[in-house]
Amino acid sequence: GTIRDVQLNILVFDVATLRRREASQKNIEIHEKLEPGLPVILSEPALLRQLLINLINNAMDAMPEGGSITISTKRDDDDGVCLQVEDTGFGIPEENMHKIFDPFFTTKAPGKGAGLGLSISHGILQRIGGQVFATSRPGRGATFTVRLPLEARAM
Ligand code: ADP
Ligand code: MG
Repeated sequence: GTIRDVQLNILVFDVATLRRREASQKNIEIHEKLEPGLPVILSEPALLRQLLINLINNAMDAMPEGGSITISTKRDDDDGVCLQVEDTGFGIPEENMHKIFDPFFTTKAPGKGAGLGLSISHGILQRIGGQVFATSRPGRGATFTVRLPLEARAM
């Protein structure tokens, strides 16, 4: 893919704008909390967009009754940037926490999820020198945190 200068806040704004219509039809609000003055990063914009879309889609799937998604960006302590997607959905049961990044792990109905989104995202982030991890309060929501290096490693 093409590695380019990426302004993460603009990318988040674009993706959030893209998903907001469908979200609002499902009674889901998408909020952004973007830290100003974030450094430009060198990365592959198409991959980052897909990653964020996957996280938003998962969040929406976890809120059949509606809710809210907050996407935030911030500068990371050790030379990187952080992207966080927080939802108010049903959350992740403790016993599934260690499985969600495994290929083909899904709790969705047949045909609804292949169980590949998080494992692919995890692999991509490892490849470029980033990280993704999840926290959850079952019944209250889930938060996915992505750490991106200022310069993606060779992809
Ligand atoms: P899929 O979406 O096809 O199921 P993913 O790899 O994207 O595959 O996610 C794997 C599983 O992780 C989901 O089936 C679900 O059980 C859990 N999961 C992912 N994101 C969330 C979320 N925001 N809230 C609750 N559970 C989630
Ligand atoms: Mg998914």
